[in-house]
Amino acid sequence: MRRLRSLDIKYLHGVGPKRAELLNKELGISSYRDLLYHFPTRYVDRSKFYSISGFTGDMPSVQVKGRFLTMSIQGEGAKTRLVGVFTDGTTTMEVVWFRRIKQLRDSYHTGNEYIVFGKPEEFNGRWSMVHPEIDTPAAPGAMQGLRGVYPLTDKLRNQGIGSRQIFTWIQTALAASPSISETLPRKVTESMKLMPLREALANIHNPQSLEALNNAKFRLKLEELLYLQLNILRYARRRNASLSGFRFPRIGDYFNRFYHEQMPFELTGAQKRVIKEIRADMTTGRQMNRLLQGDVGSGKTLVGLLCMLIALDNDTQACMMAPTEILATQHFETLYKLAAPIGINIKLLTGSTSKKNREIIHRQLADGSLHILVGTHAVIEDNVKFKNLGFVVIDEQHRFGVAQRARMWKKNSIPPHVLVMTATPIPRTLAMTVYGDLSVSVIDELPPGRKPITTLLRYDDNRRPVYQAIGRQLKEGRQIYIVYPLIKENEKLDLKSLEDGYEYIQELFPQYRVCHVHGKMKPAEKDFQMQLFASGQAHIMVATTVIEVGVNVPNASVMLIENAERFGLSQLHQLRGRVGRGADQSYCILMTHHKITKETRRRLEIMTSTTDGFVVAEADLKMRGPGDIEGTMQSGIPFELHIADLSTDGRIVSLARDKANEILDEDPELTNPDNAVIKNELALLDNRIVDWSRIS
Ligand code: ADP
Ligand code: MG
Repeated sequence: MRRLRSLDIKYLHGVGPKRAELLNKELGISSYRDLLYHFPTRYVDRSKFYSISGFTGDMPSVQVKGRFLTMSIQGEGAKTRLVGVFTDGTTTMEVVWFRRIKQLRDSYHTGNEYIVFGKPEEFNGRWSMVHPEIDTPAAPGAMQGLRGVYPLTDKLRNQGIGSRQIFTWIQTALAASPSISETLPRKVTESMKLMPLREALANIHNPQSLEALNNAKFRLKLEELLYLQLNILRYARRRNASLSGFRFPRIGDYFNRFYHEQMPFELTGAQKRVIKEIRADMTTGRQMNRLLQGDVGSGKTLVGLLCMLIALDNDTQACMMAPTEILATQHFETLYKLAAPIGINIKLLTGSTSKKNREIIHRQLADGSLHILVGTHAVIEDNVKFKNLGFVVIDEQHRFGVAQRARMWKKNSIPPHVLVMTATPIPRTLAMTVYGDLSVSVIDELPPGRKPITTLLRYDDNRRPVYQAIGRQLKEGRQIYIVYPLIKENEKLDLKSLEDGYEYIQELFPQYRVCHVHGKMKPAEKDFQMQLFASGQAHIMVATTVIEVGVNVPNASVMLIENAERFGLSQLHQLRGRVGRGADQSYCILMTHHKITKETRRRLEIMTSTTDGFVVAEADLKMRGPGDIEGTMQSGIPFELHIADLSTDGRIVSLARDKANEILDEDPELTNPDNAVIKNELALLDNRIVDWSRIS
């Protein structure tokens, strides 16, 4: 493979320096290897011929065999085109070209037999194909069976480089590369019954059968994902091995007293299961890094508290960190009510904690009399020193960087166990890659008795009924959120629409107090406005997505989202989670322009059809692709995937994950000669990737 990587594409027969430059610029192809790994995005069936008289409007690309009756240049200027009238004996169709007209006219002759391959389109009652591919039946390599369609750009097409040309070059490159060496150890290919690399490359481009194509795809996807997992796990293991952690064998007084005297309700099955998983981690002697995923309202806070109590029972302190002051304050209030009655000393530290209280906190942390510290990122400041910190809960991970998590590890000579809680439902396969080394626990059950939120799609040319409904909710004493999108490219305009909306709502509901929050506000002002709403003094909150994370106002019953089409599904779900926290029926209203595309409507209808965050996230992933999923962008994955797709190849991700673990269990440093090939490939990948150990 090394050799293929260093072979410049310009030396490939039929390419040359000019086209090589174009290929590089348009598709990033510069070596033979790049070309061989430029895979088709889909395949078309060229095993059968269709007849023009049997064409229908919804056909994919099909092939017909026949002859041109006439061939003429028509139109003028920009509308000049070459039109061939083509017959297969049943009836005729037009074949139309808009580019390279003269050249094409001279290369096809009336009377000769051709195979024309393209998508039938009906125009004025007549069938036509625009820019089809054309073969002569006898041409060597004339396409039979399954045929790849390659990703291309307009620039390439304009230069006459189409799927067919790419295919031909790839065949040439394959023929010129007799020794494509295997990139997986024999043990892997044999135990997983994988197609050898050379055969897989041959079949991915020129499938001998559907079965061979599937085997080729499987082998190439598995390899790609295996290297991805090896990459992640190699670093994660190295780090885990070097970090021994607290062993918490005891369940003691704090936990038991809380459980029997203070527990406000029975734990759900999912909460119990997750606590068991965390308990198991705490007894291994290795530091825990665990991600706790649970939909909004699934009761993560209580799980966090119970874990902290176990840490207290084992003579250590605990800390809970939240991304905003208001969230930290809410957590503090919740935890204080629950834990203070059984003699737990719990305090809040944020940017606005007074100097005097700060001093008390510092002193009590140092002498060990403060058991639980709740706060914002103020808790990771260097001057905050614990006597013996054993457990850290981080709420809403995506607002914190990994760097912050690492600073937490360093707060103690033995790094504390870390539980990261998030309501952003990341499908498991993505979590395995994006969160790399974090073990994942899932709360997949809501506490009993919740009323599902009713989600409605409404159009902004018909607002009156929506405002009437809001008026009724206000009259009943409920509170309302109204959210506007704020998207960077257009910040000014967005801010204007928010402020217009704010004014309009004030005019519309003069008898109610309206507050507003956006990202451009100073933190103190933001907190003040939030507090107005949280305390019930304000009835309507007009805001951008800054309210997305975690605010808990159980009395809020309506979430109205303006320009809902501009939000991602996962984001809409997070916003929706701000309501439905009390006993009353709640509503989420998605307001859009009345002219939205079919696809947008389909996307939004996922919201109206389910309240399950995982279903929403899976759908989001399928529709937008993993690169786009919110919150994963910055963590990203270490290299671009060519063939595997995290949104659809979940099963292969799991297989690759298991295999990677197996390989590293047997040979952690990859020193076994059998694994030399892995070491090699990983070294080549390392040149392309960012340092994963710093990202995990
Ligand atoms: P989130 O997972 O979104 O952080 P919270 O921890 O804020 O959810 O919990 C949401 C609400 O559900 C809180 O009011 C909490 O007291 C309540 N709750 C948590 N666990 C249970 C349970 N097992 N049974 C009933 N209510 C619960
Ligand atoms: Mg929460």
